[in-house]
Amino acid sequence: MSYTVDKSDEQWRAELSPEQYAVLREAATERPWTGELLDEERAGLYTCAACGAELFKSGTKFDSHCGWPSFYESIRPEAVELIEDNSHGMVRTEVRCASCGSHLGHVFPDGFGTPTGDRYCMNSLALDFTPESPA
Ligand SMILES: [Zn+2]
Repeated sequence: MSYTVDKSDEQWRAELSPEQYAVLREAATERPWTGELLDEERAGLYTCAACGAELFKSGTKFDSHCGWPSFYESIRPEAVELIEDNSHGMVRTEVRCASCGSHLGHVFPDGFGTPTGDRYCMNSLALDFTPESPA
């Protein structure tokens, strides 16, 4: 798979904080209930912290009580790449940014009560949030 944004490991290391690098480029998971965007409730747009691609809209964010920012769908199906992940003895679906291939989190089919039934469980560190400017 080739991505629109293609940077070397050295470039990513130089541009990202060590914590962001661990999540985005090494698929680490931030500790639950620690993410800055967990309680973000303003209207706005969530973008990839690595490349700035648009990923989620605030209207699809919901309170999943799992400790990570959760969304029931991405802004466009092609904005994210879904990959089967068999690490840690589990079968999960990894979610990556389709523009740069950075790890964002996982998607689970347990978004109960949401329009899609999906729960995109994202790392705050993998996302940037831009609030809508007041009209
Ligand atoms: Zn990206």
